[in-house]
Amino acid sequence: MVESQASGVPSNDTTPAKENLSSVGEDNYGYDLYPERKGEQYKPGWKKVLLGQAGYHIDKVKCERNVYSCAKNSPLVKLMMAALRSSGCSFDIRRHVACEDCEPTVSGGYDPKLNQVVICQNMVHSEGTVQGILTHEMIHMFDYCNNKLDFKNVDHLACTEIRAANLTHCSFLSAWAQGDASPFDVKKRHQECVKTKAVASVMAVRNISAKEACDAVERVFNRCYNDLEPIGRRIRRNSYDMQKAYMEAPLYGYE
Ligand SMILES: [Zn+2]
Repeated sequence: MVESQASGVPSNDTTPAKENLSSVGEDNYGYDLYPERKGEQYKPGWKKVLLGQAGYHIDKVKCERNVYSCAKNSPLVKLMMAALRSSGCSFDIRRHVACEDCEPTVSGGYDPKLNQVVICQNMVHSEGTVQGILTHEMIHMFDYCNNKLDFKNVDHLACTEIRAANLTHCSFLSAWAQGDASPFDVKKRHQECVKTKAVASVMAVRNISAKEACDAVERVFNRCYNDLEPIGRRIRRNSYDMQKAYMEAPLYGYE
């Protein structure tokens, strides 16, 4: 997701898994962030009231148009689609991506129950942001399908968030732009970026302390940071990596 929106704190992405560690019930398992998942309509704020139902439908049409355009044009989204399919995980944007209104604290998510990516149509309005969210959430979908991911296990959640941040958000260029990356500590900067993003993503969907989230990220960091499937190279923004990753997809068996 474009940094501020889909991956940052607190308007974050991710898995609908706001879990109270002591009581893991259906109802308190994160779906409160995605009211439409429960068959309810999101209670609109003042803006929605003024716009009426029209606002909802305009958001939905725009969101679906952006999703469709990403599936057609974005090298990263196309690579993820190919990776999912060639791993035996079906993917059809009409079945596996849903545009919905969400709580304003999230901009996207992955619902493992329905195996669907949620794009928060009330929060996300640009195609670039939709591309970021789609790619991020499709990495969760890939992990859920291939790596037997258990979203109730905080270490598993930390691992897939590390992978999503690593493969998409944290770029050398963004650290460079912040003015504090020298060519000598790029690697360290990148790792710090991934850790920060992953901790924020875990905390966005879990009722746990920052310490608990950090501990989980540290426990699994090395293993998950070095696992570059299915994109194969870390994507730097404003570089050709996106295109290269897509061009190389057949080498990894994703067609
Ligand atoms: Zn995530």
